[in-house]
Parts: sequence; C-alpha cells; structure tokens
Amino acid sequence: MSNYKIETKCVQGGYTPGNGEPRQIPIIQSTTFKYATSEYMGKLFDLEASGYFYSRLQNPTCDSVAAKICEMEGGTAAMLTSSGQAASFYSVFNIATCGDHVVASSAIYGGTYNLFAVTMKKMGIDFTFVSPDCTEEELNAAFRPNTKAVFGETIANPALIVLDIEKFANAAHAHGVPLIIDNTFATPVNCRPFEWGADIVTHSTTKYMDGHGAAVGGCIVDSGKFDWMAHKEKFPGLCTPDDSYHGITYAEKFGQEGAYITKATAQLMRDFGSTPSPYSAFLLNLGLESLHVRMKRHCENAQAVAEYLEKHPKISWVNYAGLPSNQYYERAKKYMPNGTCGVISFGVKGGRTGAELMMKNLKLAAIETHVADARTCCLHPANATHRQMNEEELIAAGVPGDLIRYSCGIENAEDLIADLEQALAQI
Ligand SMILES: *Cc1c(COP(=O)(O)O)cnc(C)c1O
Repeated sequence: MSNYKIETKCVQGGYTPGNGEPRQIPIIQSTTFKYATSEYMGKLFDLEASGYFYSRLQNPTCDSVAAKICEMEGGTAAMLTSSGQAASFYSVFNIATCGDHVVASSAIYGGTYNLFAVTMKKMGIDFTFVSPDCTEEELNAAFRPNTKAVFGETIANPALIVLDIEKFANAAHAHGVPLIIDNTFATPVNCRPFEWGADIVTHSTTKYMDGHGAAVGGCIVDSGKFDWMAHKEKFPGLCTPDDSYHGITYAEKFGQEGAYITKATAQLMRDFGSTPSPYSAFLLNLGLESLHVRMKRHCENAQAVAEYLEKHPKISWVNYAGLPSNQYYERAKKYMPNGTCGVISFGVKGGRTGAELMMKNLKLAAIETHVADARTCCLHPANATHRQMNEEELIAAGVPGDLIRYSCGIENAEDLIADLEQALAQI
C-alpha cells in the first residue's frame, strides 16, 4: 500500500482479504483465542510467536484499522486506544516516567493540558509549557538533562494555532528526544507530520476520523525513525531488559520500527487496559473510508463561512488559518497546502450576550461539546468548557467571552451561511 496516494489508503489500507474472505473488515467480537498446545501459548506470552491471545492486548479488527491509520500517516507501527486521552497518555508515559521531564506547546487541547499539568505531574513527570510561537532560543532553553520528549498539536484545539513542526522537531532532535504530534484536527489527509520531522503521531479518532459522532477512540503511530539505541541512557524502558516481560529488550528485539508500539502494547495496554472494542474499531474504519472526501468538504465549507463572517458588520473577528488575514496563513500553506480543518472561531459584537443570543437562533448548527463531525455544531466556551473562569482568566486562556467555536460539517455551505445570516439578523 505504501506507494498509493492517501485517498487509496483511506479506502483500502490496512486490510487485504484473501480468496473467499470478507470484503469488509470482519468484527472479531471475541475476548480470547483458542490454541492447540500450551507450548505455543507460552511462545505467545514470551513474544516469541505472533498471534492473538486476549483482546485487552490485541484484536484482529482493531489491528487492521490501526494498520490503515499507520499507512495513512506513513508510519511503521500503530495501535488503537479507547480514547484520544488514552493515546496522549500512553504516547508520553511509554518513554517518560517519574523523575522525567517533557517540553510541550502551550497551545494544546484542554484535556491534554489537564492530563499533563495535573495528573501526570502527580505521577512525578514535570512539563514545561512553551508558546508555540517562541523563538528557537526560548525553545532550547526549556530542555533539561531529564527531558524525554516534546509534544505539540498540528492545529491546536480550540486556539487554532498552527504549529511550526520543523522548529519543534529540530529542537527535539538536537536534544536527543522524539517529537510527538497530536494530528487530530489536520488528519493525515491534510498533514503528515512525519514528513516534517515528527517521530510519533497521536489522534483522537473521535473527531474527523470517525466523523459521524459514533465512537470515542484514539490512535498512536510510530514513524520508526527515532533511534532509541543511540540515546540508550535516556530510554532505559526501551533499551534495557523488561523484567515484567521475561527480560525482553524492546529496541533490540523489535528494532527501531517496532519497539515503541510493542512496548506500549505489551506494558501499557496490559496494565492500564484502555482497549477499544472491535465494534468501535469497525465504525472507525467506516469513517476512515470517506475521510479524504469529507475533509475536502469540511475545509471548503469552513473557508466559505469564514470569508462570509469576516465581512459581516456584527462580527468583530474571525480566526481561521485559511484566511489571508490570519497570522498562521503562510505556515498553514506550507504544512497543509490542501486545507487545514473545518473548525473556525469568531467573536460576535455585543460580547457574551450577543454570542448567547446568536447561538440560540441557529437552526442547523447544534450546540454541542463536540467538533469535527459531519453535522455542523458550535460551542460557547465561556458558558461551557471554560465556565469556571472570570473575564480576565478567559482572556488569558485565549478564550474571550465573545468567542464562538464553530465546527463546519459537510452540509451545503450556502445553507450554513443562510443559517448564520438569520441568526445574526436577530441580534
Ligand atoms: C478531543 C481531543 C482529544 C481527546 O480525545 P478523546 O477522544 O475525547 O479522548 C485530544 N486531542 C485533541 C486535539 C482533541 O480534539
């Protein structure tokens, strides 16, 4: 599949049926698998033979879908998780432990920020958050001797800041650590971070990949490009024997291409068990089959809506990297020449009250704490996700009281604009 274009990988990647086998990825809804001898079972447990034994660790349906996402990103190994949060957690915890440190962009999803700054901090991992637009000097100054990874988001949710992936990759590599990129909003259809130096990619597949609001899920993909053994002292978990797995040294046994995902499966999935259900993986695959078609329409609709709103007298500002007036327009063109995503944000004149009134009047756009869905939806963060903050705190968080996050679905753009028009006419 590796020579095919992204559209073909979306449709046919990850699963090639043999003679007389199901055309669609079969749902193997089985927790366990039968073997003829316990000697063979022993080999499976020693990771000497490959095969399925318990669906908490691996399942054929989930593996086929992970293999598709792996091909789409251009990686060497991948795993599905039960949510995007689990993917973010595993991606870092697989290489950083108590006493370690991680550099992260401050423009990341709120859930990821909490996971890093509060929960993982309690586990003894320190994070330094840097502005995505910091200088190279500021970025380099954030590293410590115990830094184990750098983390950022291609297009930050909800700030819609486009990351300079190359700048972050160069700094990570200069300090002998990998760059992990959350590529949820761009998807591999619009951006493939491995082509710009990222080493590991994570996804909340709940968003565009599923695309129909049907199943929560996540994915981690390894590029296979990071040389763990060259930085042996930093990554003992990958480069020294794992006593909890019969003394296996992952980087030796599974090589640069397979070590990271094998360890995440054999250790983290075994112990934390954030396993997706085979049925959810099947639904995710249905979404992936049309991802390339949907992303194009999401971007076209967002572009049309952003251009319309930018000219509207009742709108004070619009944030969308597809607008030439946007601070990230050039950077987005470099990393995402075919479009960014379908999410925009804007401010209504009349502040918080104006925003509330206008949203009440929308008929097509539903009020939801969700984004990146086939159906258009919107959210007023000051009233929902950021409700506990006062006006000053909201501004500091980059979420002013008048901000509306508007996620363009794949409906007709003229209908979406007419809906906004009638809602704005009433305020
Ligand atoms: C939603 C989201 C997550 C978390 O994913 P869940 O599937 O909700 O656990 C992580 N990163 C980004 C960018 C997201 O939008």
